[in-house]
Amino acid sequence: MPSHPTPPSPDKFAWSAIAREGLPKRPAEERIADYDEIYGNFDEETVRAQARRCIQCPHPLCMQGCPLGNRIPEWLRLTEQGLFLEAAAVSRSTSNMPEICSRVCPQERLCEGACILNVRTQPVAIGAVERFINDYAFAHHAVALMPAPPNGHRAAVVGSGPGGIACADELMQQGCAVDVYEAQPIPGGLLVNGIPAFKLDKGIVARRIDLLAKAGVRFHPNIRVGSDVTLTELRRSHDAVFLGLGAQRPKGLDIPGAELAGVVAALPFLIQKNLEESLMDLPPVNVAGKRVAVLGGGDTAMDCLRTALRSGAREAVCIYRRDLANMPGSKKEYANAVEEGARFEFLTNPVGLIGGPDGAVTGVRCVRMELGAPDASGRRKPRAVPGSEFNVDADILLVAYGFDAVPFSPGSDLAEIATDDWGVIQVDGNQMTSVPGIFAGGDSSRGPSLVVHAVRDGRKAAEGIMRYLHGREVLNQLSATI
Ligand SMILES: Cc1cc2nc3c(=O)[nH]c(=O)nc-3n(C[C@H](O)[C@H](O)[C@H](O)COP(=O)(O)OP(=O)(O)OC[C@H]3O[C@@H](n4cnc5c(N)ncnc54)[C@H](O)[C@@H]3O)c2cc1C
Ligand code: SF4
Repeated sequence: MPSHPTPPSPDKFAWSAIAREGLPKRPAEERIADYDEIYGNFDEETVRAQARRCIQCPHPLCMQGCPLGNRIPEWLRLTEQGLFLEAAAVSRSTSNMPEICSRVCPQERLCEGACILNVRTQPVAIGAVERFINDYAFAHHAVALMPAPPNGHRAAVVGSGPGGIACADELMQQGCAVDVYEAQPIPGGLLVNGIPAFKLDKGIVARRIDLLAKAGVRFHPNIRVGSDVTLTELRRSHDAVFLGLGAQRPKGLDIPGAELAGVVAALPFLIQKNLEESLMDLPPVNVAGKRVAVLGGGDTAMDCLRTALRSGAREAVCIYRRDLANMPGSKKEYANAVEEGARFEFLTNPVGLIGGPDGAVTGVRCVRMELGAPDASGRRKPRAVPGSEFNVDADILLVAYGFDAVPFSPGSDLAEIATDDWGVIQVDGNQMTSVPGIFAGGDSSRGPSLVVHAVRDGRKAAEGIMRYLHGREVLNQLSATI
């Protein structure tokens, strides 16, 4: 034993000498003129310096904070050494879309929120480094998917959101022949139809889908399972099925005036403004020069505010019943929305809508709220302040109160799958539903959540499917020998 402890390596304290840096961001007045991504990338020198801030914890809390258990310290060390392609390869080993997760994950609530450096200073810029190394790998044509030799099994994946993509990718890499069925004309789920292009460029999603298609995954767009093809037919032609159907039915607005013209659900509005080709049957919503009010405090509400401003709205105001600290939306996206000109009415609840003689909305009748004792979820329950009513003027009202699962139509054979009272598909520890051989994951089996959670479910379901298929093989062999 040395009589003195070994002096710490100077790198152990790099975090105290190197300040955390954020990604370069375009000025607000420039970015609200288009739908392009607002962040750029670090340069090589900066990304290496930022990776050097990691102290390489023996029990990394960041990995525990990441739903995928990403091997973060390993790829931070490789990045620090300038081994960017090697770092990206390690990041791909646990994630089917690190170039996407690095852009859309709320890192402050996941890996960065768990980083030990929070005790003393700001966390390592994990998301920004993940983005750099993966963009670098794509720019150097160093990303390819390798299918395993065919294992004789055929799997169907229903829904091409992040859950479906992750499951299809994993099964393909195990040697399964994979068919992906998607009701919409463009694959990607909410990655293309919900999350705005200024957060996630659509070309990045298309590139990921293209990689899968080149590796042999067969995409079948414009096919709705349950009507265009039945589940029974899929089960006949495939050995296992994964359902990644999402949860895209908007929660309704239940106040007087909800039927007025100009009251629009968030998702169709976002799709219409983000995609050249409109996927939903909604007459064009013109917000140019108008006052837009958004109801809700989640990520969808932030996306609506920022999309409205890019579409020329005269003002965009968010009406949310709790305060900023209790708002579910990402604080980073809140800050971006404020920079871009959005206004927030916190502790405010709509109690009715005001309409003009033409039957169109002209304003929102609101009441101020105060926060009472915490409810079952631990969040403080808002209650109305008597006599505090006031009006917020609005020509367009966007309702962003969240989503539920789309119920299976009673005639559809999908309805044999057990769900809870909210239509959330029930799954076991292998992500298998009540029907053997049918698996589910993502928003359809957990309720509206995050991209990274859908990816985790898709990966877990693929493992469950492989176990199920092997189990069936063993049973078949046994019955053949009896
Ligand atoms: C506006 C908005 C912004 C968001 N922003 C973020 C964010 O910044 N970060 C984040 O982590 N998460 C965000 N989310 C949440 C995230 O997008 C979802 O949690 C995630 O996409 C869920 O993935 P999924 O694969 O379960 O389903 P989805 O992405 O919803 O995909 C489901 C797919 O299944 C298809 N489908 C459904 N039924 C059928 C059928 N019967 N037959 C064939 N196809 C079918 C649908 O058309 C859809 O393409 C956001 C959500 C919204 C709405
Ligand atoms: S918790 Fe932070 S400092 Fe520790 S290994 Fe993870 S990124 Fe590095």
